[in-house]
Amino acid sequence: MMMLADMPLASVSQNELQTMAYTDPLTGLGNRYRMRDRIAQISAERAADPAPFTIGIANLDSFKPINDLFGSAAGDEILCQVAHRLKACIPDGAVVTRHDGDEFAFVLPLVFERASAEKFGQMIREVLSAPYDLGDRNVRLSASFGFAIYPFAGEEFDELLKSAETALYRSKRRGRSQITVYSREIAQEMKRATQLEQALRNAIISDAIDVHFQTIVSLANNQVLGFEALARWNDPDLGFVSPGVFVPLAEERGFIDALSETLLRKAAEAALSWPREMFLSFNLSSAQLMDPGTSANVLSILGRVGFDPHRLELEITETAVMGSADTANRIIADLRQAGVRISLDDFGTGQSSLGRLRDFMFDKIKIDRAFVSRINSDRASEHIIKAILTMCEGLDLEVVAEGIEDYSEAAKLRMLGCGMGQGYYFGKPADSIATLRFLHENEYDTGERAMA
Ligand code: C2E
Ligand code: CA
Ligand code: CA
Repeated sequence: MMMLADMPLASVSQNELQTMAYTDPLTGLGNRYRMRDRIAQISAERAADPAPFTIGIANLDSFKPINDLFGSAAGDEILCQVAHRLKACIPDGAVVTRHDGDEFAFVLPLVFERASAEKFGQMIREVLSAPYDLGDRNVRLSASFGFAIYPFAGEEFDELLKSAETALYRSKRRGRSQITVYSREIAQEMKRATQLEQALRNAIISDAIDVHFQTIVSLANNQVLGFEALARWNDPDLGFVSPGVFVPLAEERGFIDALSETLLRKAAEAALSWPREMFLSFNLSSAQLMDPGTSANVLSILGRVGFDPHRLELEITETAVMGSADTANRIIADLRQAGVRISLDDFGTGQSSLGRLRDFMFDKIKIDRAFVSRINSDRASEHIIKAILTMCEGLDLEVVAEGIEDYSEAAKLRMLGCGMGQGYYFGKPADSIATLRFLHENEYDTGERAMA
């Protein structure tokens, strides 16, 4: 494509100038001005009888690493191939443009409602998922989508585009290859998430996130063997926010490290006062298992607190280890080298192949509450638990049954030979002071440190 600067000025006609101003030089697609123009045109055409139309944005997932890994020429090549595919498959009357970087947009005059927008998104998603040919290699990419329907999502170009961006942002937050059509509810949801994020960041800075502890007992004699640390956040404005909500939020927004560091520090400090033979079990989030710095971080926190790594167990989930197996494996190996033990949390809920249990180095399996709560009512759950117990015995793994809520469940698990249990039946999560009081009242030897 010829650039403006390459041309002798006298030979550039008004028309050509106009075309260039509306064209993305890399791909030859229209640019943002072209999009704005097309939208103004449709609105004008329909002034008498305003019918809806749709705009959409597609953003490539993880495009930056490709640029970094293969060079920007390869990146440009992919963008051109994307442009080519998009141009080939958009319907008559529609326009596809490229905005900055890896972001493309559509104006779809004949898409009037959500279902059609989603269908269009699915079609484009499919088209973009085929491998890209870079000469000596093929790469695959996915894309995330945000759509906005005129006039509900905005009557002016800027407002409409902003709505599509909000929808795209939500898609990105939910992971790869997602499609979102803007609605007022989605705008609300995004706003709430942003408020929650701000509050959470403040809570971490002001040290307002707390840790509670739940007993893990021996099923043979109900003796407490250790505690699982569970994050707690009670915000003055928002009230109680579940870790099931704020932990994933911190992961998405990229500050799980800061959150986890505070939590581990507090948990380890509290655990210093427990009997030496008791372990502290701490949940590691999946994002942390993709970060090569995690093992060093964990060990340095323990070092600063003065907590023996041999007393720490880290609970991780299957999805976390599947995510980026090499990094996860290295982190696990480094931590185990230092004496930390690894538990596989929520076992049975993932798509775990049992073979995986051998590939990764676990010390303990935690059977998910979903099976435990049905153990007395559902034969299948009982059989699954029996199978897990047999397998763990063969692999020399310890087993904890989670979510035990009554005597009959505890008795059944004990009978089946399950070594450890956890759940409301044995104790609900309690703060560090209540935990210490519990240990004193039950005459566990907390040593002198606890008295200090
Ligand atoms: P999880 O690791 O599976 O933790 C067990 C959850 O089950 C806890 O919920 C616990 O309070 C609850 N629970 C324990 N016993 C019973 C029972 O008998 N019945 C019922 N119905 N529930 C029981 P919680 O504290 O709301 O935590 C939810 C999830 O949030 C945790 O699931 C874990 O995935 C995550 N989480 C909590 N604290 C942390 C943390 O410090 N770091 C990270 N990364 N994740 C955390
Ligand atoms: Ca857990
Ligand atoms: Ca669990």
